[in-house]
Amino acid sequence: MSSSQLFGGIEGGGTKFNCAVGDGPENIIAEARFATTTPAETVAQVIEFFLPHAEQLQAIGLGSFGPFDVDPSSPTYGFITTTPKPHWGNANLLGMLRAKLPLPISVEMDVVVAGLGEAKWGASKNDSHSLYLTIGTGIGGGYIVDGKPLHGLTSLEMGHIRLARDPQRDPFRGACPYHGDCFEGLAAGPALEARFGQRGETLPDEHPYWDLEAGYIAQALVNYILSLAPKRIIIGGGVMQKRFMFPWVRQKTQELLSGYISHEMILNRIDEYIVPPALGNRAGVLGAIALAMG
Ligand SMILES: [Zn+2]
Repeated sequence: MSSSQLFGGIEGGGTKFNCAVGDGPENIIAEARFATTTPAETVAQVIEFFLPHAEQLQAIGLGSFGPFDVDPSSPTYGFITTTPKPHWGNANLLGMLRAKLPLPISVEMDVVVAGLGEAKWGASKNDSHSLYLTIGTGIGGGYIVDGKPLHGLTSLEMGHIRLARDPQRDPFRGACPYHGDCFEGLAAGPALEARFGQRGETLPDEHPYWDLEAGYIAQALVNYILSLAPKRIIIGGGVMQKRFMFPWVRQKTQELLSGYISHEMILNRIDEYIVPPALGNRAGVLGAIALAMG
């Protein structure tokens, strides 16, 4: 492959922007990360990073934290819209990049881009239908079908589905400002902090809450399995850094499905079915390159 067929990837996160130039995990020719400060400052650094490579680049992919408008027919396409994050509300991220980088630039939500990366080079590279879920500060999912993210009327909002909560076991009414005890309202980082006054990372592994958390995740997976039938489910994000959660989530998913889906991936090979990201923390920036490659 000639050096003129390279692609740019940007993973725009709430704390840092990761940028890379290359065409896959084995060929990254330049990489950098910049703190997420203000849009003007951070985007200027991103542009500065790509400019020396502009001649070689075919396209750029951008995966951003949200809410990020990825609807090409919207007047705020490529904007970060109503975030409470200081300085970033209504930031025209795509417009700022386009003004200085005359290249095709594709945009998607960060979780979707991570799912694309896993589907192209990672844990779901041989699967036509894969689901990538992140459970951290928020909860989001990307559903990748034949290398493309699934969109409908809007992007998918898989973190906000409703789950059953037993008020005896879990009296916490949920932290989602829109729905209270939706999946994200029950199981994302802010919900853990609201319940225990400490971050999930610092909650001991033996804390009884983790069993409840695994149950919520399993309930959500059952809904996705029944409605989308993914061939692989990849779960990333801070909460799943607690690796003991994987066997619990797998077992509870099997229990809740109760033999109804009689596929061997669920019945006998669930260890291969519900898995961590294979690209680790590079899924986002590599996924952004995958997005640019189209
Ligand atoms: Zn919600």
